[in-house]
Amino acid sequence: MLLFEAKAVGIRLTSIHSLHYVVYGPSERPAESHVAEENGHRQRALAMTSTKKQFALALHGGAGPVAGRDYAVTEQHLAKLARECESGLKSGRSALDVVEHAVTELEVCGLYVAGRGSAPNSAGHVELDASIMDGRSREAGAVAALRDFVSPVQVARGVMEKTPHVMLAGHGALEFGRANGFAEVPDPTDYYTLPVGVTSDDIQDIAHGTVGAVALDTSGGLAAATSTGGTFGKLHGRIGDTPLIGPGTWADDNIAISCTGTGEHIIRAGGAAAIAFRYRSGIALHDAIGEMLDEVKRLGGDAGVVAVTRNAEIAMPYNSDGMKRAAVSTAAQLVVATFA
Ligand code: ASP
Repeated sequence: MLLFEAKAVGIRLTSIHSLHYVVYGPSERPAESHVAEENGHRQRALAMTSTKKQFALALHGGAGPVAGRDYAVTEQHLAKLARECESGLKSGRSALDVVEHAVTELEVCGLYVAGRGSAPNSAGHVELDASIMDGRSREAGAVAALRDFVSPVQVARGVMEKTPHVMLAGHGALEFGRANGFAEVPDPTDYYTLPVGVTSDDIQDIAHGTVGAVALDTSGGLAAATSTGGTFGKLHGRIGDTPLIGPGTWADDNIAISCTGTGEHIIRAGGAAAIAFRYRSGIALHDAIGEMLDEVKRLGGDAGVVAVTRNAEIAMPYNSDGMKRAAVSTAAQLVVATFA
């Protein structure tokens, strides 16, 4: 029987698919992959192998860091936030609440290219994209090209819970946010800041940034959320992968995924859902992610992914220079890193 054989817990750092790949968790090949190969009844096997009371969390602060720059401040921030989320998960908070909380904190701090750290588009306005998805119910909400709300991910959750829709964009998203009392930026001319690692001199060279969170809660629920100010100097109205349920954010019964990187390439490679569908079909986690990232590379972009599975396995691979990231689970100590 292979159901519970993979108990060895540890941290592996290997390079596959020409990308930086890290798995924190039970095994390189999740137990259910073995089961799937043996009997072909993956969904039933997954239900049997699911271990209750495990939690897992992974956060990212974007795949846009520049080699040689100092990201100590964001690493400290990610560590503190991951600890806070860990406490929440340990005390029974839902994955959905935890990812919303994490992304809100990442938005309001101004350290990343999301929320307060967002840069203006080519028309001089900050336009914000965010999405959130609950794996168990498969409910999802998103906002795109939203102007001047403090927490776009909270508005996205509002779309999920208060409308029959998945996404609202532009002025409609703004009207919805206002009508439902979500906090607006008090003075947009004064609110936005340069994130850590970006100076006003090189703003054109720093292509992009995003924040995201994925979590498995102790009742087996999975959720994902992502938020961004998008790419620097983007055209007015440009929408990347981040608010798209599928490419940017995905959660189902097996896996929760948040992507970061060049959105146009992630969209064309299928992004998070393309990973989830591969994983569901029995492809091992690292291959499922690696194949999508290889596609992004082949199309001319770069990207990173954070993913957690229902077995509390965590993966945080990227093929960009680096990815600001943190992870912790029942099985793995807190890890925080920016580069390899
Ligand atoms: N994916 C985001 C976008 O294209 C940017 C990023 O993740 O860095 O808008």
